[in-house]
Parts: sequence; C-alpha cells; structure tokens
Amino acid sequence: MRILVSGAGVAGLSAGIDLTRAGHTVEIVERAGHLRTNGSPIDVRGDSVGVIERMGLLDEVLQHSITMTEGAKFVDENGAVVAPQPMSETNDSDADIEIPREDLMRILREALPEGAQLRFEDSVRTLSDDGGQVSVGFDSGREDRYDLVVGADGAHSNVRRLVFGPEREFSRHLGLYVAIGAAPAEAVSEGVPHSVHILNLPGRMACLGRYRDKALAIFTFRSEKIEYDHHDLAAQKRILADFYGKDRQWRIPELLAAAQADPELYFDAIAQIHLPTWHQGRVVLLGDAAHCATPMAGRGTSLALTGAWLLTEELARHDGDHAAAFTEYERRQRPYSDKAQASANSGAALLVPATWEDIERRNARLLLAQ
Ligand SMILES: Cc1cc2nc3c(=O)[nH]c(=O)nc-3n(C[C@H](O)[C@H](O)[C@H](O)COP(=O)(O)OP(=O)(O)OC[C@H]3O[C@@H](n4cnc5c(N)ncnc54)[C@H](O)[C@@H]3O)c2cc1C
Repeated sequence: MRILVSGAGVAGLSAGIDLTRAGHTVEIVERAGHLRTNGSPIDVRGDSVGVIERMGLLDEVLQHSITMTEGAKFVDENGAVVAPQPMSETNDSDADIEIPREDLMRILREALPEGAQLRFEDSVRTLSDDGGQVSVGFDSGREDRYDLVVGADGAHSNVRRLVFGPEREFSRHLGLYVAIGAAPAEAVSEGVPHSVHILNLPGRMACLGRYRDKALAIFTFRSEKIEYDHHDLAAQKRILADFYGKDRQWRIPELLAAAQADPELYFDAIAQIHLPTWHQGRVVLLGDAAHCATPMAGRGTSLALTGAWLLTEELARHDGDHAAAFTEYERRQRPYSDKAQASANSGAALLVPATWEDIERRNARLLLAQ
C-alpha cells in the first residue's frame, strides 16, 4: 500500500522503517526543517525492548545507552543530597534501556530504508477519505492520494485535528508544564558525568542533568492551564521566567538563564491525549497523537515503538483489510497506553510534590526505601 506518515518523531520514523520493510511504499512528511532530536534522554521499557530487537537495532541502541537516572538525586537549596530516586519506582525491569533522544532518533533515521521518502518543511493541510483512498493536500501546495494515512505528529497532532476534531476534546491537562533546555557550559565541564540533580520547591522543580558531554536544564511546574500559542517560543520563555525568575535557590538562576538562551528550548503542557478510538476510515493515529501519556510516565518512546510494530504486524496479518488491522492494532496497543497513562500521576507526585510537607514526606519515604 501507499502510506503517508505525518510526523518524523520516534513514532513516525519507526512506522517508516517497519512499514517499508513490510513492503509498503511510505512517505513521511515532517513540519520542521530537520529532525527534532533534542530533549532529555528517554527510556525504552518493557516489551518495546523486544521490538527494538526485532527491528534489528538492539545492539546499536545498547552501544549508545547510558545510565543517567541511576544516579538521580534530590538536593536541597544548597545542593546537598537529601534523597535518592530509586530506579525501582520507574523501571519495568533491569532490561530497560536509557538512551539520549538524539541517539535514538539518529539510529532510527539511519535505519529508514532507502525506499522510504522523508520530506521536511511540509504539513498536511486537507484530508479527504473517499473510502477507496485518501486525497491529501499539503501546505506546500502539493496534492496526492494514499491508501492509508498515519497521524504520528505528536500530542498536538494535525491529522487528529483534521479527522477527529479539535485538541481540547481529547486533551487532559495534568496541571503541569515542562521545559527542557541547554544547561550552562560550566555544568558540562564539572566532571560529574551521568548525573541528575533535582531541587524541589513547592509545586515546581529545577533539574540539572548531565550525560556524556551534555548538560540539560529541566523545569517542571504545577499550573492551571495557560493560554499561549505552542509555536511561540518567546511566549514559552516568558512563562518560564514568570515561574522561576524570582527563585535564587541552588543553581536556578544560571539554569534558567541557559534555558532562556536556548533556541531549541522544548516547552509543553503536561497533558494526556484520550480518544475513544484511534482510527477512522483509512486514517489511523500512532504514538503521542493517539495516546500521549506525558513525560511524567516516561513511556512515550516505548509506546511509539510498540505501536508502530503492532500496526505493521496487523496490516500484514489482515492483508488489505485496513479496518480489521486498525481495530486489532488498537486492541493490542491499548493495554500499554492505559498502563502508561495511569502511571503519570505517581510520576508527578514523585518529581513535583505540591507542598513543603509533600516534599518532606517524599524524601522520608525514599530514604527509608534506600
Ligand atoms: C523536540 C522534542 C523533545 C522531546 N523531549 C522529550 C523529553 O525530554 N522527554 C520525554 O519524555 N519526551 C520528550 N518528547 C516526547 C517524546 O518524543 C514522545 O513522547 C515519544 O517519543 C513519542 O513520539 P511521537 O513520535 O509520537 O511524538 P513526537 O516526539 O512529539 O514527534 C512528533 C513529530 O511530528 C512533527 N509534527 C508535528 N506537527 C506536525 C505537522 N503538522 N506535520 C508534520 N509533522 C508534524 C513534530 O515536529 C515531531 O517531529 C519530545 C518530543 C519532541 C518533539
């Protein structure tokens, strides 16, 4: 089949690899001008480790894996360690893999078979499914027809909006925002590789994460929904400054300054996506577009990998019957996404306690469990 994939994140690239290898003709369209590879190291957990193995990428992924969060520590306002973050609270098993997002993205990009087309700086503008094929109009003015369209364009999916309706109908704000940016250059050269230090203040955290020759400033804070244009980086930086601009504790001022200077700062609401169904006609959603669980769950990448694999497997099994394939893909993927979405609140309670009492209770609990 001729398949259009919207979005070249982990979900879109994985779908590109799996579907092309299964014999389909795949075109991926990415709105950005390049692969968006920034972000903090991410986890490949549970059954998605088996998927990476079946994709033939396990050795390479392992070669680039790191154990950054093994050394995660909560610190006080002076930087002294007050509690460890036990891996047993987040990992499925010892087989789980942590890898810099940029490395996983590069590995997936390189594994994309030659036959798959990857087009940047374009986006789906119109979709019309006549039952036999889907006619697609692009921002660039191009028009084409496809047998199937896969919406793998993230939590703010454009394909989802065009086919299923506006984001507000499916988005559940978990009351938090996240920002991930570069940390000050000094932090890289301080000789503390693979470490995560987190300072909590009531309802917000600031984090300095280091791996290899990189350092990241990560902020997560509790807030009601804030209205802003999620393409407007300057607006996002202003919001971040509103929440942390007066904080003088620990290294917050220098982390904030570095993040504010980062042209690739990643900022988003921590909001889940819940849809009653992930497919309609010849259009199907994959990854965060279908079931964003948020970074609090730490499973978005794993879900994207299993989802692309299951979708490809079901299309092969149902040989041309896309409706049956989509239904089975969804039936098999739902348990993974339900589990991930259910875990997000405990992740939030662990990482961003709301009050000083909650922070102290959390620290005491972690020290006891040590
Ligand atoms: C820059 C970035 C940094 C991230 N950092 C982290 C992190 O630090 N920790 C974490 O847990 N998760 C992070 N995530 C989310 C994480 O990547 C996903 O939860 C997970 O990998 C599932 O990926 P996905 O492919 O479904 O969605 P995404 O990773 O969001 O990828 C969606 C892709 O679709 C593209 N796109 C969006 N709209 C359109 C459109 N209209 N047309 C074409 N393409 C479009 C986007 O540019 C993006 O490349 C990040 C995502 C991005 C994009």
